[in-house]
Amino acid sequence: MSEFLAKRYANASPYHPGEQPTDRAYIKLNANETSVAPSPKVKGALEDPALYEGLGRYADPHCMPLRTAVARTCGVRPKEVFVGNGSDEVLGFIMQTFFEPGSRVCFPDVTYGFYRDYATTFNLDWEEIPLREDFALDVEALCETNRHALIANPNAPTGLSVGRDEIARIADAQPWRLVVLDEAYADFSGQTCIDLVAAHRNLIVVQTMSKSRNLAGAHIGYAIAQQDLVSDLNDVKFSFNPFNLSAPTMAIGIAALSDPAYYQGTVATTMRTRDASRKALKDMGFAVLPSQTNFLFAHHPKLAAADWCRRLRATGILTRHYSAPRIDDWLRVTVGTPNEMGTFLYETRRILTKP
Ligand SMILES: *Cc1c(COP(=O)(O)O)cnc(C)c1O
Repeated sequence: MSEFLAKRYANASPYHPGEQPTDRAYIKLNANETSVAPSPKVKGALEDPALYEGLGRYADPHCMPLRTAVARTCGVRPKEVFVGNGSDEVLGFIMQTFFEPGSRVCFPDVTYGFYRDYATTFNLDWEEIPLREDFALDVEALCETNRHALIANPNAPTGLSVGRDEIARIADAQPWRLVVLDEAYADFSGQTCIDLVAAHRNLIVVQTMSKSRNLAGAHIGYAIAQQDLVSDLNDVKFSFNPFNLSAPTMAIGIAALSDPAYYQGTVATTMRTRDASRKALKDMGFAVLPSQTNFLFAHHPKLAAADWCRRLRATGILTRHYSAPRIDDWLRVTVGTPNEMGTFLYETRRILTKP
């Protein structure tokens, strides 16, 4: 830390993403990305000569073409869409726009680790609401608290989701506080709460193209909220970084959204592979939560999760282990291609039989 660091960042808590090592070729099942390429329409957009020739000019800071494409996909109006460099940036803008130092927020004790990092970095007053014993969201506790709530639905790393009625109940219970609903994995669950935004002005739904749209490398996220909240987000963005999305990034996003059949196909394959892999793990004696996402969360009574992770790594397979309370004996495994999962299951079987 240099002597010039602003005091308000003395507590900054950098998030640690899944590792991206380059020392050898790995089967990457550690960051919930995909090794499947995005829609071929994305390739077409990148090869468009007009994109190349226009790079000398700033892109539209209002991001209207991309917001219009997102709006059409989500059944809302462009004025109800805010876009950013990944949902991480969108969440960061939400924190800066609606919360101030000391603002009271809460999130589950087991959830996306970034929420705690944002809350710490922005000096919020945060509290963890424990998940129930079975890792289900404690809907009652979230209804009772008057803190702003950050909720991933489906949740990570558990993969579990709650129904739309429960989210509506949480939003209705305390309409003066915000409910930020992170739907990074909604496409793998067949359910979204976007349409609840019209009747709940305290609800902000955040989605990403990093997971279900096979575009982690392009990093595009968006928030859906009522028009005046989106306008607030844009005001903060324009006073900070008006050109947050590059022209190539926006062209990639628009192209991907123009091909729903493609991503529906890759999502359907992922869901089939997920359910088959879950069954195979259960047949080996693992407890595996019923995932509504593109990853599995698994535990074995006779194999420590940290050892499982380490021994998989030695065979060239990366997974994600969290040495955190309640979940340090569980492993999060991204659902890869059927081939990748075949190798993962084969190596897991070997690890189990050769202690
Ligand atoms: C992956 C993930 C994100 C971040 O997505 P980006 O759009 O790539 O920044 C946000 N929330 C959750 C729960 C995630 O798993």
